Amino acid sequence: MASELEPEVQGLDRSLLECSAEETAGKWLQATDLTREVNQHLAHYVPKIYCRGPNPFPQKEDMLAHQVLLGPMEWYLCGEDPELGFSKLEQTNKPSHLCGRVFKVGEPTYSCRDCAVDPTCVLCMECFLGSIHRDHRYRMTTSGGGGFCDCGDTEAWKEGPYCQKHDLNTSEIEEEEDPLVHLSEDVIARTYNIFAIMFRYAVEILTWEKESELPPDLEMVEKSDTYYCMLFNDEVHTYEQVIYTLQKAVNCTQKEAIGFATTVDRDGRRSVRYGDFQYCEQAKSVIVRNTSRQTKPLKVQVMHSSIVAHQNFGLKLLSWLGSIIGYSDGLRRILCQVGLQEGPNGENSSLVDRLMLSDSKLWKGARSVYHQLFMSSLLMDLKYKKLFAVRFAKNYERLQSDYVTDDHDREFSIADLSVQIFTVPSLARMLITEENLMTIIIKTFMDHLRHRDAQGRFQFERYTALQAFKFRRVQSLILDLKYVLISKPTEWSDDLRQKFLEGFDAFLELLKCMQGMDPVTRQVGQHIEMEPEWEAAFTLQMKLTHVISMMQDWCALDEKVLIEAYKKCLAVLTQCHGGFTDGEQPVTLSICGHSVETIRYCVSKEKVSIHLPVSRLLAGLHVLVSKSEVAYKFPELLPLSELSPPMLIEHPLRCLVLCAQVHAGMWRRNGFSLVNQIYYYHNVKCRREMFDKDIVMLQTGVSMMDPNHFLMIMLSRFELHQIFSTPDYGKKISSETTHKDLVQQNNTLIEEMLYLIIMLVGERFSPGVGQVNATDEIKREIIHQLSIKPMAHSELVKSLPEDENKETGMESVIEAVAHFKKPGLTGRGMYELKPECAKEFNLYFYHFSRAEQSKAEEAQRKLKRQNKEDTALPPPALPPFCPLFASLINILQSDVMLLIMRTVLQWTVEHNGHVWSESMLQRVLHLIGMALQEEKQHLENVMEEHVVTFTFTQKISKPGEAPNNSPSILAMLETLQNAPYLEVHKDMIRWILKTFNAIKKIRESSSTSPVAETEGTIMEESSRDKDKAERKRKAEIARLRREKIMAQMSEMQRHFIDENKELFQQTLELDASISAVLDNSPMVSDMTRTALGPAQTPVPEQRQFVTCILCQEEQEVKVESRAMVLAAFVQRSTVLSKNRSKFIQDPEKYDPLFMHPDLSCGTHTGSCGHIMHAHCWQRYFDSVQAKEQRRQQRLRLHTSYDVENGEFLCPLCECLSNTVIPLLLPPRNIFNSRLHFSDQPNLTQWIRTISQQIKALQVLRKEENTPNTALSKNLENVDELQLPEGFRPDFHPKNPYSESIKEMLTTFGTATYKVGLKVHPNEEDPRVPIMCWGSCAYTIQSIERILNDEDKPLFSSLPCRLDDCLRSLTRFAAAHWTVASLSVVQGHFCKLFASLVPGDNHGDLPCILDIDMFHLLVGLVLAFPALQCQDFSGISLGTGDLHIFHLVTMAHIIQILLTSCTEENGMDQENASGEEELAVLALYKTLHQYTGSALKEMHSGWHLLRNVRAGIMPFLRCSALFFHYLNGVPSPPEIQASGTSHFEHLCNYLSLPNNFICLFQENKEIMKLLIESWCHNIEVKRYLEGERDAISYPRESNKLIDLPEDYSSLINQASNFSCPKSGGDKSRAPTLCLVCGTLLCSQSYCCQTELEGEDVGACTAHTYSCGSGVGIFLRVRECQVLFLAGKTKGCFYSPPYLDDYGETDQGLRRGNPLHLCRERFKKIQKLWHQHSITEEIGHAQEANQTLVGIDWQHL
Ligand SMILES: [Zn+2]
Ligand SMILES: [Zn+2]
Ligand SMILES: [Zn+2]
Ligand SMILES: [Zn+2]
Ligand SMILES: [Zn+2]
Ligand SMILES: [Zn+2]
Ligand SMILES: [Zn+2]
Repeated sequence: MASELEPEVQGLDRSLLECSAEETAGKWLQATDLTREVNQHLAHYVPKIYCRGPNPFPQKEDMLAHQVLLGPMEWYLCGEDPELGFSKLEQTNKPSHLCGRVFKVGEPTYSCRDCAVDPTCVLCMECFLGSIHRDHRYRMTTSGGGGFCDCGDTEAWKEGPYCQKHDLNTSEIEEEEDPLVHLSEDVIARTYNIFAIMFRYAVEILTWEKESELPPDLEMVEKSDTYYCMLFNDEVHTYEQVIYTLQKAVNCTQKEAIGFATTVDRDGRRSVRYGDFQYCEQAKSVIVRNTSRQTKPLKVQVMHSSIVAHQNFGLKLLSWLGSIIGYSDGLRRILCQVGLQEGPNGENSSLVDRLMLSDSKLWKGARSVYHQLFMSSLLMDLKYKKLFAVRFAKNYERLQSDYVTDDHDREFSIADLSVQIFTVPSLARMLITEENLMTIIIKTFMDHLRHRDAQGRFQFERYTALQAFKFRRVQSLILDLKYVLISKPTEWSDDLRQKFLEGFDAFLELLKCMQGMDPVTRQVGQHIEMEPEWEAAFTLQMKLTHVISMMQDWCALDEKVLIEAYKKCLAVLTQCHGGFTDGEQPVTLSICGHSVETIRYCVSKEKVSIHLPVSRLLAGLHVLVSKSEVAYKFPELLPLSELSPPMLIEHPLRCLVLCAQVHAGMWRRNGFSLVNQIYYYHNVKCRREMFDKDIVMLQTGVSMMDPNHFLMIMLSRFELHQIFSTPDYGKKISSETTHKDLVQQNNTLIEEMLYLIIMLVGERFSPGVGQVNATDEIKREIIHQLSIKPMAHSELVKSLPEDENKETGMESVIEAVAHFKKPGLTGRGMYELKPECAKEFNLYFYHFSRAEQSKAEEAQRKLKRQNKEDTALPPPALPPFCPLFASLINILQSDVMLLIMRTVLQWTVEHNGHVWSESMLQRVLHLIGMALQEEKQHLENVMEEHVVTFTFTQKISKPGEAPNNSPSILAMLETLQNAPYLEVHKDMIRWILKTFNAIKKIRESSSTSPVAETEGTIMEESSRDKDKAERKRKAEIARLRREKIMAQMSEMQRHFIDENKELFQQTLELDASISAVLDNSPMVSDMTRTALGPAQTPVPEQRQFVTCILCQEEQEVKVESRAMVLAAFVQRSTVLSKNRSKFIQDPEKYDPLFMHPDLSCGTHTGSCGHIMHAHCWQRYFDSVQAKEQRRQQRLRLHTSYDVENGEFLCPLCECLSNTVIPLLLPPRNIFNSRLHFSDQPNLTQWIRTISQQIKALQVLRKEENTPNTALSKNLENVDELQLPEGFRPDFHPKNPYSESIKEMLTTFGTATYKVGLKVHPNEEDPRVPIMCWGSCAYTIQSIERILNDEDKPLFSSLPCRLDDCLRSLTRFAAAHWTVASLSVVQGHFCKLFASLVPGDNHGDLPCILDIDMFHLLVGLVLAFPALQCQDFSGISLGTGDLHIFHLVTMAHIIQILLTSCTEENGMDQENASGEEELAVLALYKTLHQYTGSALKEMHSGWHLLRNVRAGIMPFLRCSALFFHYLNGVPSPPEIQASGTSHFEHLCNYLSLPNNFICLFQENKEIMKLLIESWCHNIEVKRYLEGERDAISYPRESNKLIDLPEDYSSLINQASNFSCPKSGGDKSRAPTLCLVCGTLLCSQSYCCQTELEGEDVGACTAHTYSCGSGVGIFLRVRECQVLFLAGKTKGCFYSPPYLDDYGETDQGLRRGNPLHLCRERFKKIQKLWHQHSITEEIGHAQEANQTLVGIDWQHL
C-alpha cells in the first residue's frame, strides 16, 4: 500500500513547493474576510501535507508545513521577511526576569530548603548554579516532566529569587510595564488577527469530535475514502495486552506492534491501520472484541484522514505559537489576550476555557502540547496569570470532576496546573478572597465522597471498584488545599478573615463526616469473618494531616480568627457529641469519699472509633489559645464556660482505652485491621493529629476538672473501677485461681492506665501545653530516638514528623544533642547522643513503641553500668506547664492517685500470685518519682512568701485511712527496698528515698511548712552502711558466678567449634601453611636467589599435606596419589583490554595462539582457595546437579548459579565456581632430573639446535601426513634427514601422573577452553593447551596490574587465596601438556618459536608489534617440555627456559624501542652517559639503520634507557611471578619490601644481567640477524610510516571512567540523553557504563536487541561487547550501581555517591546533594580489577533471593 502512494506524494511535493509564503501573506493582507481566506488555504493544503499514508513522515511534513502553512503566517505577522521581523522583535523585547524553563522528564531540579517558600518552588540546573542557593541547604530531585523553573519569581523565594542570568539591576525594577509599548500598532493589529484565527482553528479542530466530517469551513470539495484506525491510550491495559491484540488485529509483526504500543503510550494515540473505511472498521472491531473482556475495551476510532491531518497541524500550530511568543513579551501578551477573550457564547467560551474544559477528552499528546503552551504564555505573563488563575478557579469544580472520571495520570491533566497557580502566595490569597477557593476545593472534594452512613459519616466499607478508583483520584484535591494553605498570610484583611472562616466551616463539615467513622465493636466468641476496610479512612486522615496542622497554623496567626475558629470547632464538636451519648445512662461513681456523675459506657461492649478529627482539632486550637495567651487576654470572648470537660475527654479517652484493651489482648478476635489502625494511630505519619492530640485533650480535661473525678472516670472507662474500689481485691483474687487470664488482662490494663497518667503529667513539650518552644520539642524527640541507638540521618528523619515543607527541624538542633560519626568504606554516618543529654531521658516517652521502649531502657541501663553509676532511670526534670494547664499537676497528689499508688505497692509488698506485675510497680515508682521531682522544683522556684501547695511528700508519709489501715506509701517503699524479688528496681526505690530526704531537707531549711515527722523516714546511717556492705558482698558473688558461667560458655563454644566448625578453622590454617612452607624454608640460603635456568637456586623437596573440606581427610600432594583440587572460576575478561571494540567474532575459527598486546580477549581464572578431593568434589557436584533438576521440575526457579553451565558454589564459602584446578608439585622437577651435563649450549647454539629439531619434526610431520607412502621409504627419509644429535622424535615419555590427576588436568583444561572461547567442550581440540597457557599468563598479568596500581611489592602482599590460585594455575598449565597430544603441543611450540626465529613453512605469523611478549614467554616455556622430552643430547629444561626468557626479553626490548621511545621529554640528563646508556643508544642506532631510518632519531641514551626500563618493568614482574610459581624458588626478600623499584633484584632473580643490553652484545651475531628480520616485517614498516598504530609500553592500567564530583551533573547529562532508537525520546532509565562511559537506554522495549536468539535490554547487550558478559553500570535516575554478568545474573550495589550525612540515596528519594566518594568508587574499581564482579553478584543473590527473580537480561 505504501509503495502505491509513494509516487503521489512525490508528485504533490512540486505543486506544494511552488506555493510562496510571501505571496500568500500578501493576499491575506488584502483580504476583507481574513478568516475565510485563511481557512480556505488550510482546507486546501493541510490534507495535502499531512496524513498521506500509513506512517507519518515527520521531517517532510514539518518542512512542507513550514513552507506552505506557517510561512505565510509569519510573513503576515511581521509584514516582512520573518527572519528580519523576528530578530527586530527580539531586539526591542525587554525579556521578563522569569526563567520559566519547562522541565523535561528526568531533568534535575533544585529546591532551596532555606529560601524556597514551599517545596514546589524549584530551579533548573543552570539557574541553580548561578544562584545563591547553591551554598544553602538544597534538595535535588529529578523532574517527572511538566512544571517549570521558578527563577525570577519573587514570590517563590524568601531570598535570592534571581540567578545571575535572570538578575535585574534593582534600580530598574519597573512596575508592571505593558509589554505592548515595544510593538508597533501594525504588528499588534496583525498579530492579533492571525493569532485569533489560528488559535481558534487549533482549538476548534482539536476539540472536534466527529470522526468523518470536518467543520464546515474546512470541508473539502473532493473527499477520498482514506481512513485511519486510531488507537488511543488508556491506563487500564498493559503493554503486553496491547501488543498482543495489535498483532492479532492488524496482522503486524511483534516489532511493529511494540512500536505502535510505544507511540500510543507516549503520544496518547497512534493510527494502526490506514485504508478505506471498511478496512479500518474491521481492525477496530477486532481490537474492541479482544480487549472488552477486561474492564473496558481499548478506545479505537475510525477517523477520516483529513481530520487527522488537521489535528496534526493543529498541534503543530500550538507549538508554533509557543515558539513565536518567545521572540517578544508583547506577542505573548497578545496571545494571552486572544486566549482569554470571551467568545460569543458568554461564560466559558474563551479559547482557554474551551481547551481546559475538553481536557479529559483529548489524547495525551494534544494535552501536553497545549499545557506547555499555557505554561509558556499564560503562566509567564504576570497580568494574565492572574486572569487565568481566576478562570481556573471558576472552572475548578468541572475540571476536577473531569479529572476524577478520566483515567490518565494527573500529570497529563490540566488539573495538575493547580500547583503552578495555587502555590503563588498572592494568587492563592486572591483566589481565597475573591473566588472563595478554599470552600470550593473542600466542597468539590466532599461532593465526590457521597457514600455516607446513617449519621452522615463517610463510609468506605462497601465501596465498589469504581468508587475506590474515584476516591484515589479525588485525593489530589487535598493536595490543592495544601497548596493554597502552604504560605501563611502576614496580614489579614477582613475579607480574608471572612473567607478563611468560611473555608474553615467547610473544613469542619468535612471533619464532621470523619468524626466517629469506621467504628469498631469488640468481637467476642467468634473471630470476625471479614477484615473490615480501614485503609481508606486512614488514607484520608493521613492526607489531611498536614492540612489540619496548617489550618491551626493559620488560626494561630490572627487572634480574631483563632477565637472564631475555636467557637466554631466547639460548636461542631457539641453537635457530634450530642449524637454519641444518646441513650447512655448516667451512673454515679465513688471512691475515697469522692463521687462523680458519668455515663455508663464500656469500650469493650459498645462501638468505638479511632477517628476523632473534630475533637483533635479543638485540642489543637485549645493549645493555641494557651500559647497565644488569648485565653488570658480575652477570656470573655472565648466560650470557656461552655466547655464541658467530661464531654471533651470522653471520646479521646475511649480511643486510648481501646488501644490499652487491644494491647491487653481483649480484641484478638477483631483481626489485623484493628491492629493496623492502632499502629497508624501512633505512627509518626499520623500521630501529630491523632494520638498526640488525644493526650492534649485529656490534659485539657484534667486541668479543668477535679483530678479525683477525672481519675474515677478514667478508672471506669478502663473498666478497673471495681478493682480499686474493692479494698481487699488483691487478697481475694489470689485466693481464687480460676481467673488467671482475667487477672493478667487487668494487670495489663492497670499498667496501661498508669502509663497514660505518666504521659498526661509528663508530656508538656508542645508549646502551649508546657512553657517550651518548638526547638525544645524537636530536641526532646531526637534525644529519645538516639537513646535507643545511634542512628543515620535518614533513619532519624524517618522517625520524626515532617511538616508540609518536609522539614523536621532536626538540623537546627542536632548539633546540640548529638555527635556525628563519619562512615567508613561501607555503612553510613551515624549520630550518637551526647552523654550530657542522657539525663533528659524519659523511659516513658510517649512516642516510643513498646519495642523501642525496651531497647532504650536496656541501652540506657547499660550506659549507666559502663559509667559505674546506679541503674535507676528516674524521671527527668520537666519544664513547667503553661498557666492554662497548670492545675493538671494536682493529679499526682489527688486522693484517688494516692490510692492507686498505695494499692499497687500494697500488692507488691504482699507479693502473692499474679495480682501485681513488675511493670505496674515500675510505673508507680516512676509516678512517685515524677511527683517528687515536681515538688522539688516547686520548692526550688518558690517565691518568698508563697506557700507550695504541692505537698506530695507529706501525703505519702501518712498511713492509709480506714478501713484498710495500710502503712504509708513511704513505709512500704522502705520495706520493698530490701525485697529480694525486686533486685532490678532497687536503685529506683533508693533514688526515691534519697530524693524524698532531699526535699525534706529543703522544706526544713526553708521551714515554710514543717513536714510531719513520720516513723518511716528515719534512715539511720548505720543501716545504710550495713546495706552497702551487703550489696557489695552480693555483687561480688554475682561477679564470680558470672565469670564461672562465662568460662563454661566459652568451653562449650570451643567444643562446638571442634565438633562442627572444624571445617572452617582447618582451611584457615591450611591457607597459611601452604604459603608458609615454601617461603620460609630454612633450606634455601639467603644468597641471591635465581628463579630459573641452569643456575636456578635448588629447592629442597617439600612434602605438602592438605585437608579436603568435604571429607576432612588429610592427604599428601603427590604425583601418584589421588587428585586434590581447588574450586575455581574461569571467566572471559576485558579488564586489561586496550581495545573494547574488538571481540571474538567466530569462536569456532578463532586462533588464540598469539595474544595481541591490546589484551582484548583474555581468560581469567580465580579461586577461593578451598581444597577438596577430586572425587569428593565430583560427588558434591553430582548432588548439586540432581538437586537442581528436582527443583526445576517442582518450581521454575532460578538459582544464583547455572548448573547446566557447570557452575556451583564452593561448599565452604559459597563462592561462585565453575571448575576445579588440580593441586600439583612443581612439575619441572619431575622432568628435569634426567640428565645433567655441565656443558650447556649458549643462546646461539641453542637456537640453532632447536631450529634443527623443529625442521626435523616438520619433515616427519609432512611424511606422516603424506598418504600412500611405504613405511620403508618413510624410514629412509628420516635417515636422510640427519636427525640432530640425541634427538629421538619417536620417543614418547610416560605420563607420571595418577589417573585421577590426569582426569582433572583434562577437566580444567576443557573448562578453560569452553569458557574462554565460549564453545562446546572438546578436550581433543588443539586450542585447549593454548587456552590454558593463556589463562595462566592473563591471570598473572591482571594480578601484577593490581599490585602495581596499589604500589605493593610483588610477593609479600598477595593474599593466600591469590597465592594458592596462581601457584596451582601455573603448575597446572605447566603440566597440561602431559595430557595433550605431543605433536599438537610441539606444533604450537614451533609456531611460537618461529614468530621470533623465522624458519620456513610458517606462513602468517604476526609481527613482533602484534605479540604480547609475556603470553609468548609463557607459551614457549610451557610448550617446551614437549620438545625437550625427546632431546637426549643433554640440554636441560632449565637451559631452555633461560634462553627462551632471554630471547623474548630481547624481543620485548626491541618492541619497546620501536613503539615507546618516540618522545624525548624536557627532562635533562643528570650525569654523563654511563655504559648502559651508551649501549642502548648503540642498539637504537642499529634499529634506526635496519628500519631504513624510518625510526625517529634519538640522541639521549639516558632517555632511552629510562623508557626501556619503564616499559619492560611489568614484563619482568610478571615473569618473576611466573617462574616463582613454576619452579618454587622463594622470592628474594628484597623484592618483598615495598618502595623501591627493585629493578636490579628482579634482574638477579630472573638471571638477567643487570645491564641487560649486554644480552644483545653477548649474542651479537644471532641477534643481528633476528633484529633485522623483525624490522623488515611489512607491518613494522607500516607502523613506522604512520599507517597503523601499535601498543606502546608500559601499558597503562584501565580505570573506570571519571565520575563528576557533583551527582546532579550526571543527572543533567542523562536528562539530555535521548533513546538512540526512538528518535529523540527521552530515555526512562538512562544507564551509564562505568567501564567505557557509554550511556544506554536501559529497561525499555525500544532498545531491546537480539542476542543469541533472545531479546535482551541495552545493558545486557552492551556487556557482551564492552565487558565480554560482565558489566558495571550506574543507573543514573536511581543512583544505583548495577552489576551484570551473563544474561541471568545481576545485583545492585551501593553507589559511590554520598550525601553530607555519609549516606547513599538509592532511588533518589531523599534528595540531599550527593558527592562522589572516591574511596567507594575505588572499591568498585578494585572489584572490577580483581574480576570479582560475578562473585559479588553471587554473594548478593545468595543473601537476597528476590534478586534471583529479576529479569536482568531486560535491563
Ligand atoms: Zn531556570
Ligand atoms: Zn535564572
Ligand atoms: Zn537558599
Ligand atoms: Zn574428600
Ligand atoms: Zn571456597
Ligand atoms: Zn561499556
Ligand atoms: Zn530506547
